[in-house]
Amino acid sequence: MSIPERMRAVGKTKPGEGLALMDKPVPRPGPGDVLVRVTAASICGTDVHIYNWDAWSQARIKPPVVLGHEFAGEVVALGAGVDDLELGTPVSAEGHILLPGARHVVPGQEHLATDIEVIGIDRDGAFADYVRVPRQNIWVNPPELAPEIASLQDPFGNAVHTVHAQPIAGRTVLVTGAGLIGLMTIPVAKAAGAAAVYVTDINPGRLELALRLGADAAFDARQDPVAAVMAATDGAGVDVLLEMSGAAPAIDQGFRALRPGGDAAILGLPGKPIELDWAAHVVVKGATVRGVYGRKIWETWHRMRALLGTGAVDLRPLITHRFGLEDFQAAFDAMRSGESGKVILLPQGPR
Ligand code: ZN
Repeated sequence: MSIPERMRAVGKTKPGEGLALMDKPVPRPGPGDVLVRVTAASICGTDVHIYNWDAWSQARIKPPVVLGHEFAGEVVALGAGVDDLELGTPVSAEGHILLPGARHVVPGQEHLATDIEVIGIDRDGAFADYVRVPRQNIWVNPPELAPEIASLQDPFGNAVHTVHAQPIAGRTVLVTGAGLIGLMTIPVAKAAGAAAVYVTDINPGRLELALRLGADAAFDARQDPVAAVMAATDGAGVDVLLEMSGAAPAIDQGFRALRPGGDAAILGLPGKPIELDWAAHVVVKGATVRGVYGRKIWETWHRMRALLGTGAVDLRPLITHRFGLEDFQAAFDAMRSGESGKVILLPQGPR
């Protein structure tokens, strides 16, 4: 297949709210790069923050930039020095790119390195017909994995990493926050052998989705979910808290429902500093609290391959909308309504 000179791309062309459809030259792969033809790209909460041009975006984003860091596609060209991939290979990518000369990179903790650049945030991403990716960031997908499911591996990796941040088998789990990543933790925890998974949120639609994804019970966070969790666990509290909301009231509820000596994995990002009853929730409780960021490179990706490839986890119920690239506005409207599941852009149209 010949590669055209120009392509469509969606991104931020100037500071301020909103995004635009751009006409851009197709990137040429430099040494060590791979050119990927994008078949599916998923809209992330981070993309909505950038769309809205919030304080974080204003500090981080340097327009013009093409958005999109959750994607799948196929290899269409190789840069100099890349000789271990066939054209047509289905791929996704780890978005965190270590900068040349990156310092203090601990093996096994590459996802926590600070000298990084992120695809679709700091450099052009995958809301486009083509995206350029360093070979070292390429993940080869099984050919039978549907591109729209493959595109979910970035946030799915966050969920898999959070669940496996502590032992899960035979333990009771509370997920606070049924956002897209919170919802993804449910089937992962079940596949890992959790004794029971409880979920709290304030959105009734999301609580319903939580039950469809295998939650044992889903509680409205505004109606004393702590009492409900304590009742469900015979007054003991859960063994594991997965905090996915970033909301102060949910964090407080989560720790109140955690049993003494329990484990808490914290992925949700509060928008500003919050208050926490440190003495009761952490010290006296003897809780083990872990911050969780990103996904392990490549350990988490191998786990995802097994979970998706065997059918142990089915992410299809999470996808509610699909759009072409030129319909990006409708796609972002759906995502910003808060009433959607995952919204997918299909640059090459539906397959
Ligand atoms: Zn994302």
